[in-house]
Amino acid sequence: MVALTRVRVNGRAVRRHQFWVRHHKNSLEVTRFASRLVRMADPRIDPTVPPSGDGCVEYLASGGWWFHLRRCASCGHIGCCDSSPSQHASAHAKASGHTVIRSFEPGEDWFYDYETDEGMEGPALAPPEHHPLEQPTPGPAGKVPRDWQRHLH
Ligand SMILES: [Zn+2]
Ligand SMILES: [Zn+2]
Repeated sequence: MVALTRVRVNGRAVRRHQFWVRHHKNSLEVTRFASRLVRMADPRIDPTVPPSGDGCVEYLASGGWWFHLRRCASCGHIGCCDSSPSQHASAHAKASGHTVIRSFEPGEDWFYDYETDEGMEGPALAPPEHHPLEQPTPGPAGKVPRDWQRHLH
């Protein structure tokens, strides 16, 4: 009898411990989910706006070339990165007050806030989430000078 009771008590204790672990894990997940929701509700980010196109808006118009592409998280403007000759993504942020960008490079989903000068997380944005894979870096094809590395910032 005593042995049986002990087993039952031990059994209950194990179950209670498992419940506590599961409960604790759940509340951690709830906390993480809530902070993700807050980030998703960031008024500077509109996940429904598609990107403006395949390449830097200004350079597509002027015939220039870029190194990496950045996407305005607010209006979808695609601009070139700060290593590119004319830094159109930064210029757009300054001119428009849209301070959050996301990388428009394949395999990259980081966000960056010009105001705080820090990287941040954010939600998935309206597709496409990066420039076409066949588009070279630097790009676009046919516009990049041979000595392009000398022109980087
Ligand atoms: Zn914008
Ligand atoms: Zn540009």
